Amino acid sequence: MDRSWINLSRISDDYERGVEEFIEIAQRHGDSAKYRGKMRCPCVNCLNGRILDVDEIREHLLCDGFLKNYTTWIWHGELVETQTVTEEHRVVKSTIEDILDDMIYDVGVQTLIILSLVLLMDKVY
Ligand SMILES: [Zn+2]
Repeated sequence: MDRSWINLSRISDDYERGVEEFIEIAQRHGDSAKYRGKMRCPCVNCLNGRILDVDEIREHLLCDGFLKNYTTWIWHGELVETQTVTEEHRVVKSTIEDILDDMIYDVGVQTLIILSLVLLMDKVY
């Protein structure tokens, strides 16, 4: 799917269409049901770390911009495209997602990543 609109000017029609397309896909495939209709905001400020209403997300994406390198929408129902994903990796990924869900509001994202890695090491070794 062409997602080059992410790099277009935010006042262009194509960018606006892209945002609507993103919202539609995210609502259909993402875990918005889990957040009672809300979802992660992929704008340059929220970085998928905040869970907001669709209207707020639309506003952020139109005013602030879409995260440039976020072209595989893994936080919105898309799988990471790699050939080497094993069952074990999937389990680890969902574990990290659960931890993120529980703690994202309490701890800074960086601390969280370190924490996730520590837990990950615990699992592997
Ligand atoms: Zn945002």
